[in-house]
Amino acid sequence: MEYRIALLKGDGIGPEIIDETVKCLDAVSEKFGHSFAYEELLIGGAAIDETGEPLPKATIDACLASDAVLMGAVGGPKWDTIDPAIRPEVGLLGIRKALGTFVNIRPAKLYAPLADACPLKPERIGEGLDLVVCRELTGDVYFGRKWRDEDGTGHDDMNYTIPEIERIARWGYALARQRRNHVTCIDKANVLETSRVWRETFERIASEYPDVRTDYLYVDNAAMQLVLNPGQFDVIVTGNLFGDILSDEASCITGSIGMLPSASLGDTSLGLYEPIHGSAPDIAGQNKANPIATILSAAMMLRYSFGLSAEADAVEAAVSAVLDAGHRTGDIAKPGETILTCSEMGNLIASAI
Ligand code: NAD
Repeated sequence: MEYRIALLKGDGIGPEIIDETVKCLDAVSEKFGHSFAYEELLIGGAAIDETGEPLPKATIDACLASDAVLMGAVGGPKWDTIDPAIRPEVGLLGIRKALGTFVNIRPAKLYAPLADACPLKPERIGEGLDLVVCRELTGDVYFGRKWRDEDGTGHDDMNYTIPEIERIARWGYALARQRRNHVTCIDKANVLETSRVWRETFERIASEYPDVRTDYLYVDNAAMQLVLNPGQFDVIVTGNLFGDILSDEASCITGSIGMLPSASLGDTSLGLYEPIHGSAPDIAGQNKANPIATILSAAMMLRYSFGLSAEADAVEAAVSAVLDAGHRTGDIAKPGETILTCSEMGNLIASAI
């Protein structure tokens, strides 16, 4: 079967990390007999330079016609001083919206050979760390009415509709069924009306999934539990604001930003996959970037957009094997360790696949 993949390389290290990821996808296609058809499209600063806008309509149309979108990163000092309305980041928000994505999934997994990079004491990590934050993307205080009174008082209206909560809850349960059958719903139902609606809705949806264990935590306690005992979590489901904060907290537990993938998904299988890091202008064009976050994002694409679980497992196993063998890019190397280039790391993972 042929899968059409829109490639948005973007700026800075974007082209380098996407090129290494394509090598790995080609290795998957060779091993499993699939065909991946790539189409390169403009986004971010690269698009501004060529067309004057960060997200050309041709990019949106081609992404909508594809089976999945794989993105590098956008932005850089060159475009920092231009009109905010057409900054590279506008392209990023625009493509998430155009694809109708409403859930952002960020796995936070600590690879055993990188345990030293974890900022927590080993006894806090215990048997390991492997959780996923499912953050709602379209509602909450970010999208409510914003206004100021005459006396300068600021307001942000926080709201959630019941259908918005139902669909993210179902997403979380479906994900938990592919993992360890455990959902933690995080809210602030002791104080916020939005959260009380969130929790009531969640409890109703939870009854549809008796095989999945559901825990409920207030967000302040959840922030504490993430650093005290992160191994207790499997799938965390939460709103836009709490998810923004908790997903960053969860990510940093795993060490390097160069290791962390993400997926943004909606009602269809068409998703957007990207590393959580930015365009790293300080190392761009030097073949120094760690491509693993993007390669793991491609593994998420295989799993969630194409339903190719064995293929996704093969990519993740190849990453583990290369790390187990002691291979490191600069961001994850300890002093004195040999440092690989971005393309050497990509080659090793592709051959491990
Ligand atoms: P950044 O994530 O680009 O870089 C932060 C630090 O992490 C840098 O020292 C960088 O070298 C390092 N780093 C990041 N990714 C790495 C990788 N794969 N391998 C090795 N080291 C890596 O964040 P920043 O410096 O705050 O932002 C740079 C630009 O990226 C800005 O223009 C910002 O707006 C943009 N940005 C884009 C996205 C995105 O496209 N999703 C996200 C965040 C920031």
